[in-house]
Amino acid sequence: MWAPIGERSTITDSQTTHCLSIDVEGFVESMQESFTVPGTYIDRTRESSEIGANVEATLELVDNLGIRATFFVLGRIAQDQPEVVRDIVSNGHEVACHSFYHKRICGQTPDEFREDVIRAKSLLEDVAGQRVYGFRAPDFSIVSESMWELAILKEVGFKYDASLTPTDIHDVYGNPGIEKGIHVLSNGLCEFPASTFALFGKSIPFGGGGYMRLYPVWYTRRLIHKHELNDLPCMLYMHPYELGPEIPQIQGISLYRKYRHYHNVSIGSNRLARVVNGFRFDTAISILRKHGLKE
Ligand SMILES: [Zn+2]
Repeated sequence: MWAPIGERSTITDSQTTHCLSIDVEGFVESMQESFTVPGTYIDRTRESSEIGANVEATLELVDNLGIRATFFVLGRIAQDQPEVVRDIVSNGHEVACHSFYHKRICGQTPDEFREDVIRAKSLLEDVAGQRVYGFRAPDFSIVSESMWELAILKEVGFKYDASLTPTDIHDVYGNPGIEKGIHVLSNGLCEFPASTFALFGKSIPFGGGGYMRLYPVWYTRRLIHKHELNDLPCMLYMHPYELGPEIPQIQGISLYRKYRHYHNVSIGSNRLARVVNGFRFDTAISILRKHGLKE
């Protein structure tokens, strides 16, 4: 049995180090494959302003929390807003790759995917001035039916992937049956999957995006603590628009979409601060090196 843990508890005896990751993208480009976004909201200038303000707020937040995080950044942001990437690096965080344009991978051919990730990785490395080791697919869209992407990631020089989720309950993504926690894939690539927990025979995600916003803070903390009892690092993830001051209010969407994408978004930074309090965090690459990743 694991002891209950409340919000005010401070954990001091655990040696488990977790990862907080931030998927750097604008709200509209994040949502365009989830629901129809009216054309009036598609405005790259406005989106750049949103990303700049929200990443700045995110950097201030993680600095105040004493956390080094991993930022999965779009190649097109390295192209359009290189100062955002440089700010992330100068604050001591890891820059990793989130594809070039945030298009789900499921509909791409292997050649299209290869070209996309080579372009994004190369540009991110040029702008960041450091090697990019990790990749996360937009919307975690490396699904069980098409795992060929993992071979291409290895081929083009990535050392780890953070796109898989051992669940079958999500409408877009999921890789039921894969190993939970950090593991090495058959092609030698390291995998740092999103965190899940078991409930009624199902594997349920937690600690990222909507799950972070919807679950009670105390419950997410209990799940992290439960992972610590097995020395399993958690992979948490958030977006700048869930942590910063700017989020476009898209009118005319269904109540379901409104709840799913906006609930608690204005207090995301406060909730994250309460969730991570007392736990240890580091970048994904630092954690993976401690787990034996070879460069
Ligand atoms: Zn994304």
